[in-house]
Amino acid sequence: MPPYDGREMADTILVVEDDPNIGSLVRTYLARDGYEVVWCRSGEQALAELPRHPVRLVVLDIGLPGIDGFEVLRRLGRRLPVIVLTARDEVADRVAGLELGADDYVPKPFSPRELTARIRAVLRRADGPSAPELLTLGPLSIDRAAREARVAGREVELTQREFDLLEYLVRNAGRVVGRDELLDEVWGFLSPGQTRTVEVHVAQLRKKLGHPELIRTLRGIGYKAIA
Ligand code: CA
Repeated sequence: MPPYDGREMADTILVVEDDPNIGSLVRTYLARDGYEVVWCRSGEQALAELPRHPVRLVVLDIGLPGIDGFEVLRRLGRRLPVIVLTARDEVADRVAGLELGADDYVPKPFSPRELTARIRAVLRRADGPSAPELLTLGPLSIDRAAREARVAGREVELTQREFDLLEYLVRNAGRVVGRDELLDEVWGFLSPGQTRTVEVHVAQLRKKLGHPELIRTLRGIGYKAIA
C-alpha cells in the first residue's frame, strides 16, 4: 500500500440501501464522482462495516430489512453526516430523520445528480472553510470543533441545522446574509426560494439563544449577526 496521505484519499461514502437498482445506480454515480463507495443492504451490515472504513458520510434508506433507517440513525448517534433517502411525501419520515440528526434528506425517486449535489454540500459544511475553532459574538461563543454554542457560558441545545445556521451567521457577523445564500450554504439547496424554511429556523434559533438582538432581520433582504 502507498503511504497514507489524507489529502489524496477519496472520500468514502457508506450507502445503506436494500433496493438493488437504486443501490447500484447510487454506487455507479458516486464512484464516477470520485468517491469510494461501501454499499450495505441492511442496517446491521452497515453498522458492522462502519468501523472498517474511513467513512465521511452515510447515505441511508429508511425502509430496510431488519432494523430500519431510523434505528441506524439512533445508533450512529450523530457521529457522521447522514443524508436520508425517504419515500416521496413522507413528511413525517423527513421530520423524524432530521430530529434524529440527519443532515439532509433526498426524496425518492431522485436524480443521481441531485444526490451528489447534496453530498457535496453536506461534506462542504462538515469540512467548513478555514476559520478559527472558536467564534464569539457578544455573550455568544461557538466552539466549531466541539459543535457547541454557549450564551454567557451556558450551553444552548441546537439541532445540527440550527448550529450550522448560527455558525454561518456568526462567521459572517456584521455582513448582511441573504436567505438564498443561507439556503445554498447551510441547506445546500440547488434552487432558491424556500425562504420560509430559513425564517422558521432563524426564529427557533433566536428563541433558543434568548438574545434575539444577536440576529437582526433586514426585511426583504436577509439577516445580520451583530453584537
Ligand atoms: Ca428500501
